[in-house]
Amino acid sequence: MPETRTVESELLTAYTEANPKSFAAYERASRVFPGGVTHDSRAFTPFLPYIARAEGAHKWDLDGHDYVDYAMGHGALILGHTHPSLVDAVTRQVRLGTHLGANHLQEVEWAERVRALVPGAEFVRFTSSGTEATLLATRLARAATGRRKLAKFQGHFHGWHDAVTRGQIPPYNDVSPGVTAATADETVVLPVDLDGVGSALARDPEIAAVIIEPSGASAGAVPLPEGFLQGLRALTAARQVVLIFDEVVTGFRWSPGGAQQRYGVRADLIALAKILAGGLPGGAVVGRRELLEPIGATPSTGRRIRHQGTFNANPLSAASGCACLDIVRDGAVHAQCDEKADTLRRGLNACFARRGVRGVAHGEASRFNLAFEEGLTPGDPKSLRQVPVDALKQQRQTPIAANLTLALLLEGVHMMGLGGFLSIAHSRDDVERTVEALDRALARIAPLGPA
Ligand code: PMP
Repeated sequence: MPETRTVESELLTAYTEANPKSFAAYERASRVFPGGVTHDSRAFTPFLPYIARAEGAHKWDLDGHDYVDYAMGHGALILGHTHPSLVDAVTRQVRLGTHLGANHLQEVEWAERVRALVPGAEFVRFTSSGTEATLLATRLARAATGRRKLAKFQGHFHGWHDAVTRGQIPPYNDVSPGVTAATADETVVLPVDLDGVGSALARDPEIAAVIIEPSGASAGAVPLPEGFLQGLRALTAARQVVLIFDEVVTGFRWSPGGAQQRYGVRADLIALAKILAGGLPGGAVVGRRELLEPIGATPSTGRRIRHQGTFNANPLSAASGCACLDIVRDGAVHAQCDEKADTLRRGLNACFARRGVRGVAHGEASRFNLAFEEGLTPGDPKSLRQVPVDALKQQRQTPIAANLTLALLLEGVHMMGLGGFLSIAHSRDDVERTVEALDRALARIAPLGPA
């Protein structure tokens, strides 16, 4: 396939030539970081641009390119970059102290805002990240039930701690090197199928909790079947298994109250991060009082669940989080973002249909995902139902999918993998520019194959 190789090498050459400063930075980075990057998702061939500055829906790299940004702080920035209210709140706080080594009023105000928005958030405990939130939720569930295992779903992502690394990639028996066999054995990987969940729970009385991305795996790239969350709620309740919603992405994005509010289903514990802290580091576990209460028990009772963390509820994150939650609480932000995301998804689909490229843009709320699997009808999200779930999870394998992120970078659009998040800062122009960029990118990589 000489033509394929030509398109791929032409893309790589064009990108490398257009980004000499980012390339030099990447070479420096490769001498200090394994793989040259600081997050697995930034490993990219040949390298991602080095960003110097961001504002609103845009960011600019060292070589001066302007990108419409859909990475949006890995989903943390529903208000866009450098929102003035958040900048003010953080600037004010930085002068008052970045770590007070003591209680402070902002942490209480932050938790009160969370409680007002998230259904069933009877108690709140702050952490420093989403990973720490799912880690703490797992510990709380084990403590409450006296059982040792955590059940998670095939392909679902919950951060990088040992209990949740298993089962991310088809055929879902993967375990990260460095996770002990004993720990991996305590993680049960469930199929996204209620009968399968029912029999796993019946078979294994050691399961303390089931954790799920309520959007479906990878922020909704692999949607859940209709009624799945309701069915899962009933199955877990029947066996006193703690249901944990990982709302690190969906919290304050799927609605002001997150996925619970959008779907009308209640979890026992909810892991939060990202938008919670308005773009600064921060996470939380919230939920049923009796599950969180033992963190506050007196040490002498022996019931106390230990949980420390130097930067829990740190004042900068609290200030940013309060300012952010004040803006998102009435749902107007969501109405705008969701509408823009819908326009974007429809524009991208129209482009796939026009060009006859077997691709589909889909997603919920202010998120979009691209899929390029066999069986899809160009630009028709309904055709997703014809595609096996495992194929959706492995989407990067097809030639166009493998090259689209790079081709779009050359057109001034930064997706996070094959998808992204919108914010209130994305304008109609940004959306139009993105659709036009897709059109040009597809024209460039069309010789790679049918999809
Ligand atoms: N859960 C989900 C659903 C996530 O998407 C992420 C991060 N992308 C995490 C947990 C981990 O959060 P953090 O990166 O803050 O540790």
